[in-house]
Amino acid sequence: MSVETQKETLGFQTEVKQLLHLMIHSLYSNKEIFLRELISNASDAVDKLRFEALSKPELLEGGAELKIRVSFDKDAKTVTLEDNGIGMSREDVITHLGTIAKSGTADFMKNLSGDQKKDSHLIGQFGVGFYSAFIVADKVDVYSRRAGTPASEGVHWSSKGEGEFEVATVDKADRGTRIVLHLKSGEDEFADGWRLRNIIKKYSDHIALPIELPKEAAAAEGEEKPAVEWETVNRASALWTRPRTDVKDEEYQEFYKHIAHDFENPLSWSHNKVEGKLEYSSLLYVPARAPFDLYQREAPKGLKLYVQRVFVMDQAESFLPLYLRFIKGVVDSNDLSLNVSREILQKDPIIDSMKSALTKRVLDMLEKLAKNEPEQYKGFWKNFGQVMKEGPAEDFANKEKIAGLLRFASTSGDDGEQVVGLAEYLARAKEGQDKIYYLTGETYAQVKNSPHLEVFRKKGIEVLLLTDRIDEWLMSYLSDFDGKSFVDVARGDLDLGNLDSEEDKKAAEEVAKSKEGLVERLKTALGESVAEVRVSHRLTDSPAILAIGEQDLGLQMRQILEASGQKVPDSKPIFEFNPTHPLIEKLDNEQSDERFGDLSHILFDQAALAAGDSLKDPAAYVRRLNKLLVELSV
Ligand code: ADP
Repeated sequence: MSVETQKETLGFQTEVKQLLHLMIHSLYSNKEIFLRELISNASDAVDKLRFEALSKPELLEGGAELKIRVSFDKDAKTVTLEDNGIGMSREDVITHLGTIAKSGTADFMKNLSGDQKKDSHLIGQFGVGFYSAFIVADKVDVYSRRAGTPASEGVHWSSKGEGEFEVATVDKADRGTRIVLHLKSGEDEFADGWRLRNIIKKYSDHIALPIELPKEAAAAEGEEKPAVEWETVNRASALWTRPRTDVKDEEYQEFYKHIAHDFENPLSWSHNKVEGKLEYSSLLYVPARAPFDLYQREAPKGLKLYVQRVFVMDQAESFLPLYLRFIKGVVDSNDLSLNVSREILQKDPIIDSMKSALTKRVLDMLEKLAKNEPEQYKGFWKNFGQVMKEGPAEDFANKEKIAGLLRFASTSGDDGEQVVGLAEYLARAKEGQDKIYYLTGETYAQVKNSPHLEVFRKKGIEVLLLTDRIDEWLMSYLSDFDGKSFVDVARGDLDLGNLDSEEDKKAAEEVAKSKEGLVERLKTALGESVAEVRVSHRLTDSPAILAIGEQDLGLQMRQILEASGQKVPDSKPIFEFNPTHPLIEKLDNEQSDERFGDLSHILFDQAALAAGDSLKDPAAYVRRLNKLLVELSV
């Protein structure tokens, strides 16, 4: 037993305590994954050492043969993992094994429901890593030494997973980390060579460095135990370097869990080797579920970068656009230099061409998923649709491709689910329809019943219903798809083109002419509130509607700008009325200017309400309406 100095007891960060509690209660049915998590960490630690040693070869002193060893002691009921990777200093241990650095963790914990079934699902999204040791152990000892520091700067971390941990400085002969799990009673099945070997084969076969177990050499009775012989139990080659045909689905899936720190299988993956002017391999995954921190600015994103099989960095962000930040994977380049930095990556033209190729790969993979697994694609869209909608603005070159991947709610459905693709929309468009019609708004309930849809319903034309906050912004980047332009049905002077017959158009013109007097009267009555007054072609049931000027901001954009404290340019709506509606007829026959004024303002305010807008002077609306009601009842 070596001497321990500078011993201190510290408390876990609150979030760690919550995580530990939740984990122990929710992962009991899948306990064996603790080994996968610890091996994954050990493998990362070795990757980091290998990389740092490129510029500081002295870090490899005392052994350049990098590996992970797993051993066990049936009598003591322990399982021990040892790696000769980068190791941890005393400070590293205190921060890494006492706190959770992920941004948004506190919020995540707050959202836990206390319902263990539901929460256990969430914990998969969160990833548990090192702390999973406490699923099977009631005490964990970690001995570690950072590569390049003297043997006297080893550290011993110890905890029962109950709120506190101890750290002390100890001598440690070798660099790297040794983790000793003291198994809980009832968990001693894990102190078994056969069991450990099976778990490693199952979850960690893809780990690129050797994972060794002691060879089971039984000593004869009375004989001294023979010296331990080790044997490698995993395949120990980088998975992405193997030919596709050689890799099983399960191996792809386990590799994903390792690099993504995810508990669930991915939805899809794409494994490619590029040869020619540039040489690189890539293995890209689409996760099944959005991570809890998808919308956190500092959330990890980007690929794991290797250069000629050597790990260089995590979260290399330069290989994919921001709207594909949920993609996980590995890229291994033969062209980059081993001492490439993030700054260099941002400027290197090689990276640009890799980025556009990788982006295409992802979009192709998503297209395939949408085509072959529409149900899975629905799930994908629920999780990542909002992020995909950032695409057209960011990635001009792939606008059409991205547009094809978008999914919308439409008047063809009745539950507001975003399932309609643009190709599908066009495939069932009306004869002569050469536009893609859409309507934006606050909520599905509001747009579904919007008066703007009346004429479309009458003619049986499908309209896309866009109610995500970013939809209006998105549509400002999309002008057409497959040669058909997008038309906001609430905007401008609706022209249904070929969908209106010549007779329809003629009839409309005649009506407009006959109502010129009414138009003028309304203009006078509504005055400054409107930009224009005209006869509507959009309405069948409602008396009036407000249309947005061709160049004006829509309601959603105005609200977004207002919420962010920006000045919103003033714009006035266009008042359109339905000449055949009884109320309009009544209005047209109204002799009293006062009543005409009241009624026009009421119609105007109602149209604003129906569009989801708020009234500028709600009290005036109520006053006018009540006045009319009183007159009615006498
Ligand atoms: P994550 O791996 O997701 O960051 P963990 O809780 O598993 O979270 O680990 C926290 C940190 O502890 C790691 O990021 C790493 O810095 C450090 N760590 C864990 N295991 C090892 C190890 N075997 N060697 C060196 N560092 C380690």
